[in-house]
Amino acid sequence: MLSTGSPAIPTPVSDLQIQYTKIFINNEWHESCQERKMAVRNPATGDIICDVEEGDKEDIDKAVASAREAFQLGSPWRRMDASERGRLLNKLADLVERDQLILATMECINSGKLFLMAYFVDLVATIKTLRYYAGWADKIQGKTIPVDGEYFTFTRHEPIGVCGQIIPWNFPLMMFAWKIGPALSCGNTIVIKPAEQTPLTALHMAKLIKEAGFPPGVVNVVPGYGTTAGHAIAHHMGINKIAFTGSTQVGKLIQRAAGESNLKRVTLELGGKNPIIVFADADLESAVQQAHHGLFFNQGQCCLAGSRVFVEEPVYEEFVCRSVELAQRMVLGNPLDLHVEQGPQIDKKQFDKILELVESGKREGATLECGGGPWGQRGYFIQPTVFSNVTDDMRIATEEIFGPVQLVMRFGSLEEAVCRANATQYGLAAGVFTRDISKALTVTSALQAGTVWVNCYNAMSTQCPFGGFKMSGNGRELGEDSLREYTEVKAVTVKISQKNS
Ligand code: NAP
Ligand code: MG
Repeated sequence: MLSTGSPAIPTPVSDLQIQYTKIFINNEWHESCQERKMAVRNPATGDIICDVEEGDKEDIDKAVASAREAFQLGSPWRRMDASERGRLLNKLADLVERDQLILATMECINSGKLFLMAYFVDLVATIKTLRYYAGWADKIQGKTIPVDGEYFTFTRHEPIGVCGQIIPWNFPLMMFAWKIGPALSCGNTIVIKPAEQTPLTALHMAKLIKEAGFPPGVVNVVPGYGTTAGHAIAHHMGINKIAFTGSTQVGKLIQRAAGESNLKRVTLELGGKNPIIVFADADLESAVQQAHHGLFFNQGQCCLAGSRVFVEEPVYEEFVCRSVELAQRMVLGNPLDLHVEQGPQIDKKQFDKILELVESGKREGATLECGGGPWGQRGYFIQPTVFSNVTDDMRIATEEIFGPVQLVMRFGSLEEAVCRANATQYGLAAGVFTRDISKALTVTSALQAGTVWVNCYNAMSTQCPFGGFKMSGNGRELGEDSLREYTEVKAVTVKISQKNS
């Protein structure tokens, strides 16, 4: 489980140097073919941290050529003992552990994520993911299949080939690990594009990948924009599989691009409008706390955010009152400061989008209980916001806000709650709070979501599959299930000259 349970309190690196700002191809640093750079900003101030080389189609072509070369039969990577792949992934995890303070500080400065969250959640999850998939590397096995005695049939689980991976800015390092961990464990090679806003930890990881001893071309990291570099990955004829995390809108483009090019395999982890159902018999204190963290974690920039809270009528007013108290107590400020509980949104575009949705909520008649506006003089901070008396047809109740805006709705019966919870195009996650086990199990089986938490929320673990029903995505990440997304099954049938008895 992701927890913050370590006794020692880490502190950010005070004189952080950004050393890696180029495109990483074939274990070497490259300038962009178009000789373009992009500015990387600190969302807490809006200031530029550094410039990074901007990859485009030509750079993707170079990266794909390098990844294809590394995947050739007979290459060091293809000849490598599967256990050695595991050793390399473990070595990478060791190096991430060594650089944990650097990476957590970098993630905080570049994404606006709280330093302590970066350290205790993102870094811990990154290391666990790499070690988990290190363990799988030499356990990916086929079967022998009983067939007609004249034949002998077995299956091989082979790597798919070159994997294009496109990741978002809300968990830059953790998404990097979720993507490369299973892909490398299964023996694939990679071209990965970090989000335009947050390339820094991905580039530091590139340096660690080389230091760990991965052969050249196995992992290539190309920073760039979605509409150029991302588009080139999605349409590339030399890429065999694509894994994407981001908006549903772009997810659809990725799937279409796969269809228009080479039918590359596609896994998508998209948005959510995740319901939390709180029954009147629940431990209210705990439900309020969990729903609060389930929404405000990472400034609400989380596909899992519990953004529609349905509360049973008898406890509705009290639930709203306690949720507002918690929201109003939150401390905003510099995410490097260890006492701060909420940092900035990622950029001006997201900041504007969230505030526009808040305005729509007010216009459409929801009750603004607290917050609702920007905070501070610099950076992209938004006050923790709670709306009550929200109805299901309002824009705030249907669109993904991706910000610190909690919505509390009331319900009368179990059937009504389930029906309304499922009335969305999404199906990523859901929460149920009740002391009644049969109520919990009834609701759990009725909810259309890839993850359902009972009496808890955001309780993620590396070993547990994660992904969406409906328009929240295709396929699963994490756990054993993700190995299926990074292998092809080959059935081999051999004619036996002597018929078996
Ligand atoms: P996005 O556009 O979907 O970005 C995700 C990744 O896809 C980024 O690396 C992006 O590149 C890339 N991309 C964009 N257009 C592409 C294209 N045409 N072809 C290939 N790749 C492309 O998301 P966003 O604009 O950053 O955020 C918008 C909304 O998406 C948010 O408000 C939120 O609702 C949702 N979102 C969801 C998640 C999630 O975890 N599921 C994460 C982030 C955002 P760029 O770096 O150029 O954008
Ligand atoms: Mg974008």
